[in-house]
Amino acid sequence: METFLGGRLIVKTGDITREETDAIVNAANSSLMGGGGVDGAIHRAGGPAIIEECRRIRDTEYPDGLPAGEAVTTTGGRLPAKFVIHTVGPVWYGGGRNEDGLLANAYRNSLKRADEKKCVSAAFPAISTGVYGFPRERAARIAADVMKSYIDSGGGVRKIVLVFFGDDDYRVFLESSGLQSP
Ligand code: ADP
Repeated sequence: METFLGGRLIVKTGDITREETDAIVNAANSSLMGGGGVDGAIHRAGGPAIIEECRRIRDTEYPDGLPAGEAVTTTGGRLPAKFVIHTVGPVWYGGGRNEDGLLANAYRNSLKRADEKKCVSAAFPAISTGVYGFPRERAARIAADVMKSYIDSGGGVRKIVLVFFGDDDYRVFLESSGLQSP
């Protein structure tokens, strides 16, 4: 585990479903109906209350699915976290389809949702870097930049946790994020 940005950003390995932050962020797909990876793990651990709320959100606000870069909030169900913030990261197509901008939006809009719910802590997975194929090094810089500007601009989430599922992902993040250099 390492901390940055005056102790407000914590970087660690682990299973995000076990985080006791006010909110955890889900790297969902636009259907909001669950999937593999971290999405599947969150729905399994949190139980059916989460998918029920996702279904309501689809029926009312997003009948065509949640677009990449956007985020919505549901209950955390049986998770230790009170809320799950579902965001959709971009699928990596090589970098020419505004993937960078969409990934930054996914992080930024998730923090905005956390602020709306007055969360003082929130945990994030490495959005888009699994099945969606976003290069980990590039994603690390984007995530770190968003966190830095959010914290510098006085955002309400006091503790942000970036949770990496494996040691290798953790190491790549630390080497690529730019957080270690002054
Ligand atoms: P995406 O479709 O956005 O790429 P994935 O779920 O495939 O989402 O992967 C995103 C990241 O989440 C990957 O680094 C994956 O290893 C990681 N991950 C998978 N399960 C968990 C978990 N339980 N806790 C934290 N991170 C996880």
